[in-house]
This record gives sequence, C-alpha cells and structure tokens, in this order.
Amino acid sequence: MNPNPHILEPGFPLPLESQPVCSAQTVIWAERKSPVLSSSSLACLAHIPCVNLTSGCAHDCIYCYARGYRNFPGYNKIIIYKNMLEKLKSELIRKRNKPHAVYFSPSSDIFQPIPEVLELSHSILEFLLSKDIGIAFLTKGKIPDETLDLLINHANIVRAQVGIITHDDNVRKMFEPNAASIAIRLKQMAKMASGGIAVEGRVVPILPGITDTPDAIDRLCASISNSGIKRAAISALFLRPAITASLKQRILDKGILDDLFSFYKDGKRLAVHAGHSSVIPLSQMRREEIYNRFRQTVMKYGIDLSVCGCMNPDIGGRCNITGKWPKYGLQPGLLD
Ligand code: SF4
Repeated sequence: MNPNPHILEPGFPLPLESQPVCSAQTVIWAERKSPVLSSSSLACLAHIPCVNLTSGCAHDCIYCYARGYRNFPGYNKIIIYKNMLEKLKSELIRKRNKPHAVYFSPSSDIFQPIPEVLELSHSILEFLLSKDIGIAFLTKGKIPDETLDLLINHANIVRAQVGIITHDDNVRKMFEPNAASIAIRLKQMAKMASGGIAVEGRVVPILPGITDTPDAIDRLCASISNSGIKRAAISALFLRPAITASLKQRILDKGILDDLFSFYKDGKRLAVHAGHSSVIPLSQMRREEIYNRFRQTVMKYGIDLSVCGCMNPDIGGRCNITGKWPKYGLQPGLLD
C-alpha cells in the first residue's frame, strides 16, 4: 500500500528492448544560418564549443528548461537543420585551430527518437571523431547500436553523461514521456562504461516529494552503481514560467501537481550561472537536505557525487558536465 497516494509505486520491469513511444512530432526542415559551433550561457560550458542539432526536442520532458528559450519552436515541433554537417565542416576548415572537444547539446538531445535526427547525429559524430575531436554529450535517449559502437571505438575521446532522475519507469513516463526507458539507459551506461567511455549519471532534476525519498534515492543509486557507474551529478528542480506552465498542463493528477508546487511556495528568486537568468528554486535548506540524503546514500555504493554549481550558486559545486579533458580551448593543426 502506498502511504502517499500521489507518489507512484515502482513500476513493473519493462523488457530491456522496449522503445520509447514518441508522441507525434512535426519535423520541420530548415537551413541553419547561425554558426553550428556556438557558446552556451551556462558557466560550466563556457570553455567548450556546443552544438544543438535541433531546435525543440522530441523527448518532451515536461520539466525541460529549454521550453522557455526564444528559439523553442512549440510543443511537438522539431526543427532539423539540413545543412548542419556541411556548415560544421566549413566552420572547422576556416578555423586556424580545432577544438579539443565539442559538447552536445545544451538545449536538445543528440539521440532523440527520430530517424533523421539519429542519422544526422551519427554523421556529425563520425566526422568529428575522424578528426580526433573529442565528444562530450548528455542524453536521455536510446543510442543506436551503430553509434554506440562508433563511440566505444573512440572511447578515449568520448565523455558521456546519461540523464537519469529515477529508477521507476512509471515516474519516467510521466516526466520524460518520449525518452528512453530506464532499463535501456542503464543498459547503455553499462555498455559504454565497459567499453572504456567515462560515463556519469546526471540526476537532474530531482523532483521534491517524488524522487527525493530515501527509498527512491537508494534504488536509483543502486541502479546506477549496478551499471558500473561511479560518478553522478545532482540538482533539484527549479521553476521558471515556461516550466510551471508545462507542469500544469501535463500533470493531470491535481494532487501530484499541488504536492509538487507546495515545495516552492516560499521560494525566493535566485540568480543562476546561466547568462542573466534567475529561477525559483527550492529553499536552500531544503536543497541541502536533499543533497545530503544523496551524499549519505552514495557512500554505500561508492559513487563520487557532485552538485551542479551553476544552478546552485548559493551552495556551490562543480558537476563535471563536459567530463574531464586535458585542457579546454584549441589544439593546433588545421583540418584537412
Ligand atoms: S532531453 Fe533535455 S532537451 Fe530534451 S526535452 Fe528532455 S530536458 Fe529538454
């Protein structure tokens, strides 16, 4: 019996190969005019060129911060830039120095369940890796086998973060409806780690009252550890107008919604290290409590934990979002 009727019971295990069911997406093809290699306003991405393959993201996470961005194309719309690879090649040829690594993707996922996106991702990764340019990525998607093999074949210059906020696929379905199942993500994490890729779990956002209970944290940490992953980063959900609107629209159980928002009633606006943005966070005390709960739990599983300092400037931390590289910036040598 669930003592809190609004908290979902752990789901039945899903078959490992089950695919996310992607709600209908309108794919819009466009010419990319602005540079492919761009900079992110997030402080921890300031020293690495970033690439967004699409505007909009088919994973449709209902807490997605990118919903508030100016270039967000609207619900269930994905803009794919057809000239992406050619433009990237010409940008790199024009550079006197090539970057050590490129980060995918600050405001979309590189492995969305849309064949055209996955084909484009593969060709761009293949090109960059063939030029010895490292890849750092964060995904909640199912990586096609061929692309996974490509990444493992270049494991020494690949850094992966896998977004995983819960062990419970029922919670995942509610908050990340089109992203890969938890079973698929864990399986991929294990495969990448055993293939030599530096992999971390990214537990962002932690949902207060839903994924921050001692039991939920313990099960998640156990799952991450069982996949052979020994590093994780955490940060709690924050609210912005677009996120609040999305949660109100998509969480149909008013009890769950009211419980979730009740944690933010006294939230005071916080300037974060992301351009000039500010958010409504959980109180600092509440976040400290949650992060301490994680800190205590990970000790049991030998996981090295860090807090995202960009979104928690009042607490501090460094979440290693791009992975560790010998040095950021440029390495000598024109591309041929
Ligand atoms: S995977 Fe990331 S970018 Fe895509 S919808 Fe989810 S939070 Fe947004």
